[in-house]
Amino acid sequence: MKVGILALQGAVTEHIRSIELAGAKGVAVKRIEELDDIQGLIIPGGESTTIGKLMRKYGFIEAIRKFSAAGKPIFGTCAGLIVLAARIEGQDEAHLELMDMTVVRNAFGRQRESFETDLDIKGIDERVRAVFIRAPLIRDVGHQVEILATHQDEIVTARQGNLLVSSFHPELTDDYRLHQFFVNMVEDSQA
Ligand code: GLN
Repeated sequence: MKVGILALQGAVTEHIRSIELAGAKGVAVKRIEELDDIQGLIIPGGESTTIGKLMRKYGFIEAIRKFSAAGKPIFGTCAGLIVLAARIEGQDEAHLELMDMTVVRNAFGRQRESFETDLDIKGIDERVRAVFIRAPLIRDVGHQVEILATHQDEIVTARQGNLLVSSFHPELTDDYRLHQFFVNMVEDSQA
């Protein structure tokens, strides 16, 4: 099973490492044709405005919407979460508009730049060490969205069908259980 990491900008090699620890093959995706060859896609952290611009330039908006409509799982982390959202607070335009939620960018007040904490994530047994870097939070979720984790009463991990998102960077620790969770989603989508 192959999981692609969208490699337009941002943290790609760390995700490939975590995906391989979770037992799937990880490959960098730079062209839309490469989506045909993978069963799941990760949109990494970075800068959402830059990733969105490059996605438009290379035809990824339509191509990823099709990928999702075919039931193939997508995992967005940090900027990748922002790119998946239907609504971005304070901006007229969103990007993929696939997940029914509003995101607030750079949202953690005094902890704005970066912080780490241990999170309880639904579906994962023990707490997960989570690294937040200029992280977004999730608000106004639609009824199809399942909340998987909160931090300071704000939603930081969620799922809507084949879509999984986290505000933090699961690829920056040795703990690959959230990647494992995603690989399981990809396996289930193949069954
Ligand atoms: N603050 C960035 C943005 O708004 C996201 C930061 C990240 O991915 N670590 O796009």
